Amino acid sequence: MGEGGCIFCKIAKKEIPSRIVFEDSRILAFEDLRPQAPVHILIIPKHHIEKIADIEEDDLGLIGDLVLAARNIAKEKGVDRSGYRIVINCNKDAGQEVLHLHLHLLGGRKFTWPPG
Ligand code: 5GP
Ligand code: ZN
Repeated sequence: MGEGGCIFCKIAKKEIPSRIVFEDSRILAFEDLRPQAPVHILIIPKHHIEKIADIEEDDLGLIGDLVLAARNIAKEKGVDRSGYRIVINCNKDAGQEVLHLHLHLLGGRKFTWPPG
């Protein structure tokens, strides 16, 4: 597991500390370093997948589990009724900065649509 130099692989391996909110054998969820909302959690597969464009049939179960983890964390954080947004940025135009697949779970404030 792990891709040299990838910051989220290092977080997954606990080589870099993070504020973990959920973990199982395949998934890690942790607080975003620069939160854009009162609730801003990143949910990642522990193994390196660069971006959503790279997922394969075999990853579909994992992607479902990432979404379920986001759903459960939203409930734990108390934003399930008020509402939340799950965001996956892919490549430059979407503003993907970290090339390790991650879901953003954002909640605790009102978001605009269309997004900026
Ligand atoms: P992206 O723009 O790639 O979709 O989102 C990357 C996210 O990772 C950003 O929201 C950024 O604040 C967060 N981030 C980048 N480096 C770190 C880090 O070392 N620790 C944590 N907890 N979050 C990070
Ligand atoms: Zn990685």
